[in-house]
Amino acid sequence: MTEPTAPITQDVLTLPRKLPEGGKTNLVGLTREQMRDALIAAGTPERQAKMRVGQIWQWIYHWGVRDFAVMTNLAKDYRAFLDERFEIAVPELVSKQVSADGTRKYLVRIAGGHEVEVVYIPEENRGTLCISSQVGCTLTCSFCHTGTQKLVRNLTAAEIVGQVMLARDDLGEWPVPGAPKDETRLVSNVVLMGMGEPLYNFDNVRDAMKVVMDHEGLTLSRRRITLSTSGIVPEIAKTAEEIGCLLAVSFHATTDEVRDKLVPVNKKWNIETLLNTLRDYPRLSNSERITFEYVMLKGVNDSDEDARRLVRLIRGIPAKINLIPFNEWPGAPYQRSDWERIEAFADIIYKAGYASPIRTPRGEDIMAACGQLKSATERARREKTGLGKAAPGGA
Ligand code: SAH
Ligand code: SF4
Repeated sequence: MTEPTAPITQDVLTLPRKLPEGGKTNLVGLTREQMRDALIAAGTPERQAKMRVGQIWQWIYHWGVRDFAVMTNLAKDYRAFLDERFEIAVPELVSKQVSADGTRKYLVRIAGGHEVEVVYIPEENRGTLCISSQVGCTLTCSFCHTGTQKLVRNLTAAEIVGQVMLARDDLGEWPVPGAPKDETRLVSNVVLMGMGEPLYNFDNVRDAMKVVMDHEGLTLSRRRITLSTSGIVPEIAKTAEEIGCLLAVSFHATTDEVRDKLVPVNKKWNIETLLNTLRDYPRLSNSERITFEYVMLKGVNDSDEDARRLVRLIRGIPAKINLIPFNEWPGAPYQRSDWERIEAFADIIYKAGYASPIRTPRGEDIMAACGQLKSATERARREKTGLGKAAPGGA
């Protein structure tokens, strides 16, 4: 990425002086095309719009700038024009907790006062950011903490991209002009595995991922983005075609009877329907293996027979099976399988030729592990009504 070029002058007198009704338009989360349209609608001459998008894009997503005044390769009047009509707004960081294992959990406030959680998981040679797509979730998976919170609303594309930008702010990851180029990526991977079902907020998730994958900004390759779904069959092919990221599926059971209880959306799209759809995914998106997520629940889905059935079911699908030791939350109706059971289960799958990593629970001491996310306000409410214990306090 080159440093910003010298200012480009332009005739700003042609720009309309009328201010937008209903407040400023947020540029964050707009795709390049949407940003171009917004600039033109505000009065930027059409022939300049593409170049302006390129310049502004680089400031926002490469340099992490939030203030038009800093965009020195734009004429001063044009910067003022932008400032009158647009904003570069990301959600507000309310608190940060850092786990003993280095995992960071951010509580983030979005418009309307709602809160979502974002988790950063540093590992030896990568850093994964787990982002949310909805406040709450309409689905009611019986082992998931988020599932006990009703859907409040879908996040906007700006709020989804904003989570990545906030994490980069906190980690100090934006490049410094003039400093030697640093290729280490702190946020090297993004997983849509926080709160919500991403495929029930498809358009916003897709637009946000387009921004995150753009080669001139946050620049995460589509192979470093994993979208996790509970199995919203009609949207899965669209994910391959319109996003092309890696796919993880919350599988969790090997019979419809058990899956109906754990992941109730199975009543709509059962195991067979889901698997038929998944067979096409890698071909459509040209991606690698599909990750089957499998939460280990003591005495519910963790028998040797389950492991063997799982292997039979997924035959023919390029896959890896990610075993997730159940993360407990206050009032949860399940227990984590014993460690020996998890290992025996993993072994059967491994011997059948599939990678079967056991996901190490991260950030448990700050309730940041999979399925433990739920907004603090909601936890506080439960605490008051005696329904649950609040998580450790904020940073
Ligand atoms: N709604 C999407 C993505 C968010 S959940 C989905 O269901 O796939 C991310 C992952 O965490 C899913 O695989 C989910 O099943 C798993 N999960 C939820 N609650 C959990 C818990 N208490 N312990 C372990 N994993 C859990
Ligand atoms: Fe929603 Fe996923 Fe939790 Fe199910 S596991 S309730 S789909 S967030």
